Amino acid sequence: MAHGIHLTGARLIDGTGAPPLEPATVVIEQGRVTRIDTSAERTPADFAQIDLAGKTLMPGLVDAHVHVTNFDMPRAMKGQEAIAPEVKHHFIAAGLRRMLRMGITSVRDVGAFGDDLLHARRAVRLGEIPGPRILSCGRIVSATSAGGRHFDGMYREADGPDEMRKATREQFRRGADFIKIMTTGARTCELENSSPAQMTRAEMATVVEEAHRMGYRVAAHCEGLDGTRLAVEEGVDTIEHGLELHRAPELLDELARSGRVLVPTLSCFFDVSENRDGRWADGLLELAKRQHEEAHRTVEAARRAGVRLAMGFDSQPNGMSALELVRMCRAGLTPMEGIVAGTAGGATACGIVAHVGSVAPGMAADLLVVDGDPLAEPELLLDEARIWLVIRSGRPAAGAALEARLPGLGADEAGVTVDPVPAPAGRPISPPDRS
Ligand SMILES: [Zn+2]
Repeated sequence: MAHGIHLTGARLIDGTGAPPLEPATVVIEQGRVTRIDTSAERTPADFAQIDLAGKTLMPGLVDAHVHVTNFDMPRAMKGQEAIAPEVKHHFIAAGLRRMLRMGITSVRDVGAFGDDLLHARRAVRLGEIPGPRILSCGRIVSATSAGGRHFDGMYREADGPDEMRKATREQFRRGADFIKIMTTGARTCELENSSPAQMTRAEMATVVEEAHRMGYRVAAHCEGLDGTRLAVEEGVDTIEHGLELHRAPELLDELARSGRVLVPTLSCFFDVSENRDGRWADGLLELAKRQHEEAHRTVEAARRAGVRLAMGFDSQPNGMSALELVRMCRAGLTPMEGIVAGTAGGATACGIVAHVGSVAPGMAADLLVVDGDPLAEPELLLDEARIWLVIRSGRPAAGAALEARLPGLGADEAGVTVDPVPAPAGRPISPPDRS
């Protein structure tokens, strides 16, 4: 058995923003990067070698703001067999596999329905289903609110500092990796006003104090400036959305000074304002268009102020997180800055930057090899065929290189979209449930 892997001849983007190194050899042993070498040394006989000439090696992507379980399940048509709630677990597993396939090796889930995501996290950690590293907030800690009813099963509502402390402790008990709070309402819930602060200063201070004392980080949903200001002043670790921050340069300066992270989640504003399939209520649509503008101004202002930014897709489908990276570039980041936001920036938001998010000796070997140069063409990160190899904890785990494709015989090439074999009794719904 090989002692490790030599990845040779790559253009290396290490995730820190340093200029690319080429050609680089990256040595992986025991799940970690142990050495980076530019002398084109020969691979020892007891190491496997993967030749990456013409390809770019970078850290695996880190999405700091996902909701893995927030997808729409297909609905059975009238008369068809109902889709049991338990089927959702398989869709969650498929979404996680899809994320890994697209080079996403770590995610921070900032709100899920019930404990479904915690169960999936367990299965991934047991090595039974492929997926990124998952950090979960358990339930979102929120004041009693319309959102608590709208997003049924996702929130733990609490009022007053003592209840907030208990709600925070309940998340530790549940196995949360960090705490998520709602400092303002959510624009995606018609009954909520996202302008005023929804939690009091005392409530916020209590959650932050409790979490930090116990060694947990706090992520804060922030839309309106009042809640955002309280979050910054009371010491939360990451600002989620934070779209109005361009109006308060002093808060951006404070985030930059203290090394805290803004996760702008541009994609969620696109998602609502583009309103594909006409699914969003009119009022929410108009609001999203205004917020879209503000979010872009905030990305520019935060960049100028030197605030650390992280990629957070906050949208569906699972696996398309790099769309946020591309959108951040279109909003003014250079491709290198976009890649840093999608790797080391994301890892900083997650609190795991000492282990993942950059390629350096001692770091976990969570790596992505792409066909081409993402500095010239960030969009290639969205192209499945060019996600050549994904390495998770030192193991080749996914990617085009691992998929044996017989030219001309793949499902796409042959135009096979419907399984021609009917289910034994009756007609299958699409996609068919048996073959
Ligand atoms: Zn979100």
